[in-house]
Amino acid sequence: MTIQEMGTHQKHQTFCLKVLTYHNAYQNQKELQHQKHTLHVSRELDDPSFTVNDGDGVCVLKFSITWETECCRVATRSFLITLGCFSILLCFTTQSEFLNFHRRLRSWNDLRRNQSVFHQRTEDSSALHFQFYSCLSQHQNKLQDYHRIATYQKAILLNDVDFKDKVVLDVGCGTGILSFFAVQAGARRVYAVEASSVAKYAEILVKSNNMSDRITILSGKIEEVSCPENVDIIISEPIGYMLLNERMLESYLHAKTWLKPKGMMFPTNSDIHFAPFTDEQLYMEHHARSSFWTQSSFYGVNLGGLHSFAADEFFRQPIVDTFDGHILMARTVKYSIRFLEAKEEDLHQMEIPFVFKMLQTGLIHGLAFWFDVAFVGSRTTVWLSTAPNEPLTHWYQVRCLLQTPLFAKMGQTLSGHVQLIANKRQSYDIHITAVVDQSGFKSGNTLDLKNLFFRYA
Ligand code: SAH
Repeated sequence: MTIQEMGTHQKHQTFCLKVLTYHNAYQNQKELQHQKHTLHVSRELDDPSFTVNDGDGVCVLKFSITWETECCRVATRSFLITLGCFSILLCFTTQSEFLNFHRRLRSWNDLRRNQSVFHQRTEDSSALHFQFYSCLSQHQNKLQDYHRIATYQKAILLNDVDFKDKVVLDVGCGTGILSFFAVQAGARRVYAVEASSVAKYAEILVKSNNMSDRITILSGKIEEVSCPENVDIIISEPIGYMLLNERMLESYLHAKTWLKPKGMMFPTNSDIHFAPFTDEQLYMEHHARSSFWTQSSFYGVNLGGLHSFAADEFFRQPIVDTFDGHILMARTVKYSIRFLEAKEEDLHQMEIPFVFKMLQTGLIHGLAFWFDVAFVGSRTTVWLSTAPNEPLTHWYQVRCLLQTPLFAKMGQTLSGHVQLIANKRQSYDIHITAVVDQSGFKSGNTLDLKNLFFRYA
């Protein structure tokens, strides 16, 4: 066995062993041609990956295992891994080699299972999220959102006193753009943490911009990496649709582990705004989407039995697009989150009561949501707003329809509440209940923030 030591966080290990593979049935058992193999085990971002090389150093097998992979110990020195209809038996030469391997695997799993808040609150399949962020095209989309990027830079540069000679933590640095802004404002050192493999591109930009002495890229999740020192200010763009989608705000709050007492956060506060809206066309359009399922002879098949399921599914989709402010029927209600005070658990379940005084008579089709974030600096406060009357951002606005529209007259009140419940798919279930107090007409809906309908396209 050879071990490549990587400090206390040993990431690679190599073992000598014999490998048997099984395909479909035990009759197809075969021993890979060479008697001796080397198994190289490494943990790059998350999951342990395995490479088996034959005696000539040629790679004969390569795979990784996730939480869902079936695998177990066999007798005293073998380990069985099943990948679909294919099984691999790793037969270690000695028991001590096996134990070494087994211990390593278990410690990585424990690390994932027990120590990371992120893993506790996220399904494995949802963490695919990071594959999305490993693409430069996704970051280009964010970088080309002028209102977003220009406001971030303005907030940082106008408050350069808060950055000058300071230590900064950039949570989810992506390409590292906010870290560069922090350096432009005079930061002494920036630790830039990134969970997806875009971290390697950030590293390239840091080197090619000669910033290696100022910006350190830490590859991994903020919940799992170790920041070399406590920081004066945390910067991040942890914002999803309706502010909360992706549940990255919790990671942002988690980062406060590394914040010095009296440290700052950019953004500092956020407000979710919402108001009832009227939009007959949107409502009809949404109904029409499910009318596909009313066809009684679709290539000779009656689809009618699925119509109500399709209608339910479509109504559970929040709609992402923009609209003119005149569809809003009342002044907004707002829900504030102050990042310096809030704890991760505060975002697990939020109940927002509302009472809207109607400013116009008509049918209420749903609630329209958007958000603002504020950067409260020592010199000035800068707002990034995604309101419908502000320049459009890639977050647009989000509308949630009611199951049935509610009629209300000007001067009447619409009361109820919005409940936001975090789920393991890095998103929220949205429950809305509403009643027109004077008539007693009631409506509501339950929506899935993960399954958005992008109407703007
Ligand atoms: N700061 C960059 C990128 C913002 S997108 C910019 O403003 O352009 C959010 C980034 O945070 C993504 O690259 C995503 O992979 C990363 N991220 C999300 N959750 C994270 C976590 N828990 N730890 C580290 N990075 C995370």
